[in-house]
Amino acid sequence: MDIRALWTRLRTPVGLRRWELERTCMRNLLGAPAERVFFKDLESRFLLVSRGFCVDQGRGRSVDELLGKTDFDLFGREHALAAFEDEQRVIRTGEPIVAKLEREIFDDGRPDAWVSTTKMPLRDKKGHVIGTFGVSRDVTAQVRAEEALAQQALHDQLTGLANRVTLMDRLSQALVEIERGRGRVGLLFVDLDNFKRANGSVSHEAGDEVLVEVARRLVRACRRGDTVARLGGDEFVVLCRALRDDDDIRLMATRVLRAVGRKFRRDDNDLTVTASIGVVVTADATADPSRLLQDADMAMHEAKGAGGDCFRVFDDVMNARRAPGHGFDADMRRALDKGELFLMYQPLFSLDDGALSGVEALVRWQHPQDGLVLPGRFIPLAEERGLIDEVDDFVLDEACRQLAEWAKREACPATFTVAVNLSGRQLSDPKLAERVRSTITRHGIEPSRICLELTETALVGELGEAARCVTALSRLGVKLALDDFGTGYSTLVHLQLLDTDILKIDRSFVQQIGESGRDHEIIAAITAMAHALGMTVVAEGIETDIQLGELSRLGCDVGQGFLLARPVSPDKVFGHLATFAALQRPAAVGC
Ligand code: C2E
Ligand code: MG
Ligand code: MG
Repeated sequence: MDIRALWTRLRTPVGLRRWELERTCMRNLLGAPAERVFFKDLESRFLLVSRGFCVDQGRGRSVDELLGKTDFDLFGREHALAAFEDEQRVIRTGEPIVAKLEREIFDDGRPDAWVSTTKMPLRDKKGHVIGTFGVSRDVTAQVRAEEALAQQALHDQLTGLANRVTLMDRLSQALVEIERGRGRVGLLFVDLDNFKRANGSVSHEAGDEVLVEVARRLVRACRRGDTVARLGGDEFVVLCRALRDDDDIRLMATRVLRAVGRKFRRDDNDLTVTASIGVVVTADATADPSRLLQDADMAMHEAKGAGGDCFRVFDDVMNARRAPGHGFDADMRRALDKGELFLMYQPLFSLDDGALSGVEALVRWQHPQDGLVLPGRFIPLAEERGLIDEVDDFVLDEACRQLAEWAKREACPATFTVAVNLSGRQLSDPKLAERVRSTITRHGIEPSRICLELTETALVGELGEAARCVTALSRLGVKLALDDFGTGYSTLVHLQLLDTDILKIDRSFVQQIGESGRDHEIIAAITAMAHALGMTVVAEGIETDIQLGELSRLGCDVGQGFLLARPVSPDKVFGHLATFAALQRPAAVGC
């Protein structure tokens, strides 16, 4: 319908002339309590403001009281000046400023707020600019959720120390400094002796208190510029930069041993904790950060083997003993040849009606000596040794074969999907999309029934290359999911840049539901943002009824977790078809 026809339709039933209608619309807009609309003259004085503006920015002053005032009467000087400059630019250029994120600092001690403001030129009938007008939206909740997300992604929640992601980033930076002639880099891998046993004999809170205190002591023992990180459990790492010689790091190790080994006083009881420390030091700027960490870990085990409460420095003997991954390479090749790898499938359910919506394929290794090995133990090594393509090719091929077989069954829902994890390393392979296409075609699978799960950290590392890869995959018609969302560097803004269909909220958020109100806010913000971008939201790692209920309430679309179903063998998957009851009642099946 053209605009004239629409206008006629509008005008007739309402019975208003155009100017009357415009005025009515304007009155409603300005009277709406939630809308912050303002009009200003050429000197940035308020000409007209909406009711919402009076309430929020005007601290309850009436429209009349605000007329003629400027931002300098309402906000801190810095913010007011920036706003004034923006408006003068709009007036000068006639160009709008769209959705600018601004921090509002009030001069009456109110907490800061974040707003997104769009400013446009205000023109008279002849088109001359006579001022500006704008609309602003309070986005404080979204910004706070982003900050919390960043904090959570880069820090250990218990101690506030850096986490593994941050440590590895700082380690890479420190190695670059070697190149600039700033000394050596050392790592202390600190593991508490017998903590697990001691932790079992005291309350969970007491165990946490010890960890927090150890963290505090480590920070105090370190120099400015060093990084103290917690990797999880009772494992800490100290990164020391700019060391003059190997003695410096030995000195640090001794200081750390002493600091940790001092008595803890708790409820009139003395508690002594000791540590085993593995030390590695390098002057090689090209050293591989993960290899350094592994070396420090190995040296730490030597210290443990020597009875604990001591440190060991990684040396040539340990290096020779490691036989760098050759054992692993041969083992993995045999596993691929002899069919020792196999897949389990973890069901996913719609949180709306409880229907089985698909499965995630999870690889397992039936090792002839070690028994069942989980992917956390061999995927990182396969990545490091350049064998991950072969592992992931096997998984995709097997998952497609299985799906083709399932699809023939009457019981298989038409929209049933199989999700397959892709290693982050694959995203730098320009032939990835072609490999995926050929596997899917070989098995005659509908591409939309395959979902590829990509990890967020990998995507953000090299967004340019990864984004190209993501686009190529998405053209194939397969679904793409962003896995473990919230554990990498990514911000909500990255979501807009990547063309993915599904977002999987990492289980670390899900598992804190019920413990901290903050996680509710974060999940709500992530879900709202993902929905606004047309993405489906999956919550991973649901283990309790409370988590399930909350996630449904917060608008998550799909759920996965031990409460609903554990990973199962292919023949058990359709046993979950009528599992709506499982959403109400814990009924974990499988292994
Ligand atoms: P992921 O992709 O996030 O897979 C989910 C992991 O969480 C699985 O562990 C699953 O068993 C576990 N899980 C599911 N529900 C719960 C729950 O309620 N509580 C707890 N505590 N855990 C739950 P799994 O099988 O050990 O896999 C670990 C990771 O290894 C996967 O994380 C994925 O990143 C990687 N992986 C698994 N299979 C493959 C594969 O074929 N290729 C690649 N590249 N990576 C894989
Ligand atoms: Mg996954
Ligand atoms: Mg995951």
